[in-house]
Amino acid sequence: MTDCLFCKMVSGEIEPAVVYENEEVLAFRDLNPQAPTHVLVIPKRHISTINDLQQGDAELIGKLYLGAQKVAEQEGIHGAERGYRTVMNCSAEAGQTVFHLHLHLLGGRPMGWPPG
Ligand code: 5GP
Ligand code: ZN
Repeated sequence: MTDCLFCKMVSGEIEPAVVYENEEVLAFRDLNPQAPTHVLVIPKRHISTINDLQQGDAELIGKLYLGAQKVAEQEGIHGAERGYRTVMNCSAEAGQTVFHLHLHLLGGRPMGWPPG
């Protein structure tokens, strides 16, 4: 999609701070970090929201989590005594603002619960 911010990052039109990449997934630092580590893991193919997922996307979603695991390892927050949170907001009430599917990886500080 030409008018999608995250598609522009996949195409290279906008250059985010990339921390991990493979054939299907791109991970880059959030512009407005909410924790010492705040990375967005996105599919390179445009999907707007969780509501738009198809049966054939099941493996791709697993790959987003494997990407997050890799980044957590790189960031040194993957140990059992550390930890991190993954969040995927869906639509208005959850606060989704960019309509290209993304998994937030947050870590490097204790996380409160329940979330806001
Ligand atoms: P959402 O609210 O849709 O779950 O998350 C969108 C995230 O994208 C927000 O955390 C926001 O800070 C981040 N974001 C918005 N614009 C940009 C940008 O241009 N570059 C980067 N790296 N992150 C962005
Ligand atoms: Zn997109």
